[in-house]
Amino acid sequence: MNLFRQLSLHEKLSEDIMGSKLQFLTDEFGNRTGVVVPIEEWQKSQPSSPSSADLHPDLVRVIVGADEIHQRVQTLAAQISSDYAGVGRLYLVGILKGAFIFLADLARELSIPHIVDFMALSSYGKTTTSGAVRILMDLREPIEGQHVLIVEDILDTGHTLSYLYRNLKDRNPASIRTCILTSKRRPNPPADVPIDYLGFEIPDVWVVGYGLDFADRHRTLPYIAEIKKTV
Ligand code: 5GP
Ligand code: MG
Repeated sequence: MNLFRQLSLHEKLSEDIMGSKLQFLTDEFGNRTGVVVPIEEWQKSQPSSPSSADLHPDLVRVIVGADEIHQRVQTLAAQISSDYAGVGRLYLVGILKGAFIFLADLARELSIPHIVDFMALSSYGKTTTSGAVRILMDLREPIEGQHVLIVEDILDTGHTLSYLYRNLKDRNPASIRTCILTSKRRPNPPADVPIDYLGFEIPDVWVVGYGLDFADRHRTLPYIAEIKKTV
């Protein structure tokens, strides 16, 4: 998803992009229907991605720009709305704190009935993982018979989601799916959890912004950025 980006032919391509290697998509008659550009080139063309000179000194680079997030959230919401059409009410479970911005944007784009609740799980300190997960704040209501969608910010080892998924599944919801904003391309694949909706695959680095933090900092940046290892 993230190495290349597919653009419609109507999107304005910057000179940077035009100068890079373009791969056109064609329909069955050979008409050009789209163009695939390297994501790095595309990101450079995004007005909402500050150039590295304008970034906070803690940050290395923008990984997903605000416009790209916004578009992807709309696409995910449309997909979810269509998948759950006619099902009744969707029970969104946002995982605090990281998913609150994603959930807020996603929920407001849904065209189906839904309610919002939150859970808080223990997260490991700073950038290391212990694999142990604990519920700090639980849902207010039982979810038995509900159509549950877990909304989470990021998948790294997958331990958090795997624990949560099993925990909520044991409460006998009518259905349970996951919607994850970002997933890291790691050397070891994440624990066995179904990812039903995914925003972006990102590199295996520590990221902040759009809900994601480092020691509670940089959480409300409009884009997702890599933070320096030395911070
Ligand atoms: P996992 O259990 O999949 O290893 O880790 C998931 C949790 O770790 C996420 O919910 C998030 O709290 C935290 N996490 C993992 N990687 C990152 C990252 O790059 N940035 C931030 N801010 N949190 C992360
Ligand atoms: Mg989290």
